[in-house]
Amino acid sequence: TSSPHYDFVIVGGGTSGLVVANRLSELHNVTVAVIEAGESVLNNFNVTNVMGYSTAFGTQVDWAYQTENQTYADGLQQTVRAGKALGGTSTINGNSYTRAEDLQIDTWEVVGNKGWNWKNLLTYYKKSEGFEVPTEDQIAHGANYNASYHGLDGPLKVGWPYSMTNSSVFHALKDTMEKMGMNYNPESEGGKMVGFTVHPDTVDREKNVREDAARAYYWPYETRSNLKIISNTRGNKIIWANSTAGGDAVAAGVEVTTEYGTEIIYVDREVILSAGALRSPALLELSGVGNPALLGQHGIPVKVNLTTVGENLQDQTNNALSWAGVDTVTGLATFSALPSVNQLYGDKADALAASVKSQLASYARTVAQASNGVLKEANLLEAFNLQHDMIFKSQVPYTEIVFSPLGQSFAVEYWPLLPFSRGHVHIRSANASDLPAINPNYFMFAQDAEAQVTVAKYIRKSMATAPVSGLIREEQSPGLEVLPTDASRETWDKWVKAHYRTNYHPVGTLSMLPREKGGVVSPELKVYGTKNVRVVDASVLPFQLCGHLVSTLYAVAEKASDIIKESY
Ligand code: FAD
Repeated sequence: TSSPHYDFVIVGGGTSGLVVANRLSELHNVTVAVIEAGESVLNNFNVTNVMGYSTAFGTQVDWAYQTENQTYADGLQQTVRAGKALGGTSTINGNSYTRAEDLQIDTWEVVGNKGWNWKNLLTYYKKSEGFEVPTEDQIAHGANYNASYHGLDGPLKVGWPYSMTNSSVFHALKDTMEKMGMNYNPESEGGKMVGFTVHPDTVDREKNVREDAARAYYWPYETRSNLKIISNTRGNKIIWANSTAGGDAVAAGVEVTTEYGTEIIYVDREVILSAGALRSPALLELSGVGNPALLGQHGIPVKVNLTTVGENLQDQTNNALSWAGVDTVTGLATFSALPSVNQLYGDKADALAASVKSQLASYARTVAQASNGVLKEANLLEAFNLQHDMIFKSQVPYTEIVFSPLGQSFAVEYWPLLPFSRGHVHIRSANASDLPAINPNYFMFAQDAEAQVTVAKYIRKSMATAPVSGLIREEQSPGLEVLPTDASRETWDKWVKAHYRTNYHPVGTLSMLPREKGGVVSPELKVYGTKNVRVVDASVLPFQLCGHLVSTLYAVAEKASDIIKESY
């Protein structure tokens, strides 16, 4: 029998990978294979249940990666969840659909990625979206939209579950947040996110099930004969051709391991890595693309010297408080407040801006040193200055606060959106079955921890403001015995670091940036030094976003698909 071969081999059938598989297999004359470590979860209730957030955690569909001990967070580890299934992390996530601040996407172009800006990406957000227009009743409960920002015909169903209309809390929260100085934002998907909002979800409203990447982009197209899903199969590494193309490495196939053994799947055109921000870097390193010093430690021959593979890891940190609710709180719906730094810090914002500005050079030095000099201070400083401008000049949202009231419990969680801390992810060995070593360096900088405290205090103040104050009883967690109103900064800091979790938004580990700025992929998402290897997943986002990630990842993967199609 002849060896299997395809025009395109995609490693990782997750959120991004299935978009690319779908769009490339629209071309009848090409063949596409998707290698996925997990399997179908179409009938897994932990996945499909719209109210089932977190029930899939710790099951066989969760990679449950462990981080290294976190130096700046009392040495504790974190569990970083990620989906191991056809559909990837979109099968276990919180279903929130929020995009980004328009300026953040424009910044991708500012730093050298031609063609990557909000206006252009908006066409792809819309292309991916099958917006489910809210009913009158849903609008009365906080759903809202401006039609010009939504697509009606895309594969991904986006809207509000009908059950959100059981909630009695919208008007009270809206009034309270207005008193806190925050306006209701009827449309947070148009690039302006600051305000109080009830954003849509990735949900199939009629079937009342989670809308994950497989449901949107694969199952309706499963009969395509040129699209092959190879599940329960791990991609190990890229197999290279003996000859190069003008000095660039040429991928000839992918080595995979199934339950029956290890084999090579050959590729006629391209390999596309879509294994997620914590795994695509490992695939490159196992293939000999990375930092020669690290590859040498593991006895892997260097194919492409690209020192920044796995660097620039950016994630967020999440804490939660909760109150006892009163009986008038009914239904389950989530509400988001996205305050700017001025709304949070009030008249202290200017002083904070100056203080953070004066530390940016030292942030850059610290991150460069932590990368063993692989990242350059000047490049980091440019990125941090842009981030500072977004936070303090452009006033993008500084934190997201999510209110989840349900009957007797009123939970509130939050995460500062743009921490300065950066870490890395690298292989532990040359064995593809070893999970990577992940070090996000949470709370590397004092301001990242300080923000975590300030937001918690802001939440307490909001919850003590009428009319919401009338809907709750005592604070249950952490509670005033643990954290009295006048608790010291030290006590707060301890609480934050003992109880935080990752916000599960790792990005940046194979950043799309010019090579001289530490980038790993070009604006065409091609890995530098290779002829036919691209990356399409959260790894390529050069900077953290104020939105949750999937909407932007679907849009990026849609654009990537067009770029790939146009190149043939
Ligand atoms: P993934 O979707 O993770 O896809 C990677 C795929 O590659 C997986 O299927 C994996 O099994 C596979 N894979 C990995 N290694 C290999 C290998 N070696 N061989 C073969 N296959 C491999 N975002 C939102 O927008 N809204 C939310 O509410 C939200 N909540 C979240 C809650 C949680 C608990 C988590 C973990 C994330 C959440 N996110 C949310 C983030 C978002 O879901 C992810 O950022 C996004 O799905 C990542 O997409 P991706 O394409 O980069 O990778």
